[in-house]
Amino acid sequence: MTDADVFTYNGGRVDPGERQNIRFVVSETYLGDPVRIPVTIINGERPGPTAFLSAAAHGDELNGIEVVREVAHEWDLSDLAGTLICLPVLNVPGFLAQQRYLPVYDRDLNRSFPGSADSTSAKRMAARIYTNFIDPCDFGLDFHTSTRGRTNMIHARADMGDPDAARLARAYGTNVIIDSEGSSGMLRTEAVTDGIAAITVEMGEAHRFQRALIDEALSGVRSTFAEYGMLEAEQVRWPGWRTVITDEREKTWLRADGGGMVDMHFERGSLVHEGDTVCTITNPFKNDNVAIEAPFTGLLVGVLENPVVYPGNPLCHLVELDERTRRVVELDQSPSGTIG
Ligand SMILES: [Zn+2]
Repeated sequence: MTDADVFTYNGGRVDPGERQNIRFVVSETYLGDPVRIPVTIINGERPGPTAFLSAAAHGDELNGIEVVREVAHEWDLSDLAGTLICLPVLNVPGFLAQQRYLPVYDRDLNRSFPGSADSTSAKRMAARIYTNFIDPCDFGLDFHTSTRGRTNMIHARADMGDPDAARLARAYGTNVIIDSEGSSGMLRTEAVTDGIAAITVEMGEAHRFQRALIDEALSGVRSTFAEYGMLEAEQVRWPGWRTVITDEREKTWLRADGGGMVDMHFERGSLVHEGDTVCTITNPFKNDNVAIEAPFTGLLVGVLENPVVYPGNPLCHLVELDERTRRVVELDQSPSGTIG
């Protein structure tokens, strides 16, 4: 067995068996003060892969922050093989303002990777993060939530056409994997382009710590560490059922055709059957209610939380399941555990 490697970044080094909590400068404020992101680097005594866990690339998406902090500071990592880079808050300016985008010209940090040292402020920040902490990695998990006002069940988004990203997504072990290459500038998309297996984990709503989802997400982290041999005591999990959503036909955002207030009849993660009334759009007088029906039988991956809509606003994200998976989900969701 070879010896574990020293981990180096711009301004420092972390030796095998060492851990560091650092505040890493990524930009400067209007007052010339440093903008610093918290980073914890844990270099195991045993050799192994280098992995990142990142959250809050969108500054108001908080669930992942707690996932990353618990792994870094509450897990026993004394037996870790490899190096773990924990980045709980990527978008510090957005986090301080509790908003999705960087407050500087409302740039999306998660469309700015891998960044550039002599470009816009967003791309300079992205480059500082990417060069030092993403580029050295073999794989990584980037945690997000639904956009403000909506919520979604925990699921992975991954480019399943990339064998390494597909391996990571399967190892993470969610019921639902949405197959997409992602957009240019996304952390996971740019990482995969550079040969680093990376997926996005979507969970819950913005502005919250949601304990059940955080626990579920932590199980996924344990499972991936088992897959890559970083923690020998752990096992890769099988979620009971799994569906990989590949084709456009199988997923749709149901949208409001009129403005109003929405009465949602199902929770995220529910199976709805074709023709079920998923929600009702009401006016101030509660007459002329508009029932929104499921166009096909499927799973509600995401639903609206803030109940007000303009025409065209999304109501819910519905994905079709293959027949076999649908039967397993039906069994899973029936109160008695059997199909009645
Ligand atoms: Zn996000």
